[in-house]
Amino acid sequence: MPKKTIIILGGGISGLTLAYDLAKHQNQFHIRLLEKTDRLGGWIDTDTSTGFLFEKGPRIFRGSRSAHFLALIKELDLEAELIESKKEGHARYLWREGKLRKIPSLSWSLLAGFFKEWRTPPLKHVDESVWEFACRRFNRVTAECIFDPMVTGIFGGDMHEISARSCFPLYKKWEEEHGGVLKGFLKRERFKGPFMFGLQRGMKSVIQRLQERTNIPLHFEEEVVSISSHQDKFEVKTSKETYEADYLFSGLPAHVIGKLLVPQLIQIPMRGATIINLGYRQKVLKKKGFGYLVSSKENEEIMGVIFNSNVFPQNNRTSDETRITVKLKDGGLSEGEARALALKGLAKHLGITAQPAVSLVIRAPQVFPQYIVGHHARIQKLEEELLKQHPRLRLLGNYLYGAGVNDCIARARSVAASFLSAAAS
Ligand SMILES: Cc1cc2nc3c(=O)[nH]c(=O)nc-3n(C[C@H](O)[C@H](O)[C@H](O)COP(=O)(O)OP(=O)(O)OC[C@H]3O[C@@H](n4cnc5c(N)ncnc54)[C@H](O)[C@@H]3O)c2cc1C
Repeated sequence: MPKKTIIILGGGISGLTLAYDLAKHQNQFHIRLLEKTDRLGGWIDTDTSTGFLFEKGPRIFRGSRSAHFLALIKELDLEAELIESKKEGHARYLWREGKLRKIPSLSWSLLAGFFKEWRTPPLKHVDESVWEFACRRFNRVTAECIFDPMVTGIFGGDMHEISARSCFPLYKKWEEEHGGVLKGFLKRERFKGPFMFGLQRGMKSVIQRLQERTNIPLHFEEEVVSISSHQDKFEVKTSKETYEADYLFSGLPAHVIGKLLVPQLIQIPMRGATIINLGYRQKVLKKKGFGYLVSSKENEEIMGVIFNSNVFPQNNRTSDETRITVKLKDGGLSEGEARALALKGLAKHLGITAQPAVSLVIRAPQVFPQYIVGHHARIQKLEEELLKQHPRLRLLGNYLYGAGVNDCIARARSVAASFLSAAAS
């Protein structure tokens, strides 16, 4: 029987992880990957050209929430590259009412929220906004001081719209399985690995190793411009060629595959951010810790700041350097404007007036999918519809069941496993 043809669209961590898993079965399939740019990794990229190690995208991972990522790192023989965060790099702050406050800084209102949470009965199988969830289980102050900055800083979103189930699945699981968030927290299995981890040579090393071990044709600088399906085949046109495929796996961003083949995905709202990496040759941070988030009520351009050189001094090139990352709302700013806003914010929040030796500005428009209430059910329904409409298409990516790198890897590996097991039966 002739080998079936597989095309993987997009070489970010989603597409590349899937390619890595499928590449072990090339005796059964012809596989190729099409990527628009001249490199793999998508949002994952490390820059060392300035003499500082800067991550352009993801950089810090909670060990207890990264089982799939850690398993992949082990499989790729990269465990020796794992670096663990230093304790001095754990304290977090919140900019609220004109002041940096340590979180959680216990107040009577927060304690009252925790007391209420302990006594509130669980509400099962209901999706609600993060705001509704936090107010129902805790109280308004907990919603504003703890949940709101997390939603702004991590998802770039609005807690009144975002789904608690999709954005804080663990808290919902604890509520449903143990009767509450605090009860679940106390009963959780203790995680023995790193609290927070990164990689010695940066995230790029994961991409490089995956690429080395994925021996299939990789087509760079081939932007997919149209996809059509005819009977059992897909026709994929790129800026250079036309290909035919029996099976199509999309690791493209939601709005891209939405325009090409699955219009329902265009409805997922996306938000962006501008990231400014700043490198100083001297120590400029008076505060220890991880960094700070900014309450959405503050009317500030900055959403969050990470003190990279505190969290992972192992990535510092010199003992005196400071590396800071500022995340701004994406307002179509020029590089100069973004840098100026970041420096103004750091002067106001941290009293840093020194000029950085280098800066690296990255615009990331349409990168954070907004999991609006009901997202999980909508995606499941869409998957059912797609199975009928395009049974040989599978979707991967951060807009489905989790926005982080660990979620993208989990999704890619589960799609690969179910595809291979169906093909074997
Ligand atoms: C600044 C930033 C910080 C982040 N921090 C964290 C973090 O700390 N922890 C965490 O877990 N997650 C973090 N994330 C999220 C995480 O990086 C992403 O969710 C994840 O990398 C998405 O991977 P992906 O492969 O699904 O998509 P992408 O990385 O978007 O990959 C899609 C690929 O498709 C290609 N492509 C696009 N259009 C076409 C086309 N028409 N034809 C062919 N190819 C195309 C792109 O070039 C790209 O290579 C962060 C993201 C950003 C931007």
